[in-house]
Amino acid sequence: MNENVRPRSGTILRIKKSLCLGCGLCVESCPRQAITIITSTAEINQARCNQCRLCLEACPQEAIVESRPVSEAELASEVGSLKQTADDLIKRIEKLRQKDLAAKE
Ligand code: SF4
Ligand code: SF4
Repeated sequence: MNENVRPRSGTILRIKKSLCLGCGLCVESCPRQAITIITSTAEINQARCNQCRLCLEACPQEAIVESRPVSEAELASEVGSLKQTADDLIKRIEKLRQKDLAAKE
């Protein structure tokens, strides 16, 4: 097994639908029958996939990519952080607006 097909923990493989041609080469490469072509696009059944990454090498389109699922806690933290940034921006804009109004008086 070479470096490219070594399983990595904490990630899943997914199909970039915009790149997939529906050629089926990934389906043939998969030893776990985890990939099916649905309406001309490959889909990976995560429950069957063991992350051997053979499909990744087989795809001529580089349409199979690794991604790390985001947990709800991470998502909530990111949303909280973005909300804080937005709140700070709104305060700064309001301050600038007040300054501008004061300058015009
Ligand atoms: S090999 Fe790539 S392009 Fe072909 S069906 Fe699979 S994901 Fe799509
Ligand atoms: S990583 Fe391996 S098991 Fe998972 S879909 Fe690709 S070829 Fe199949």
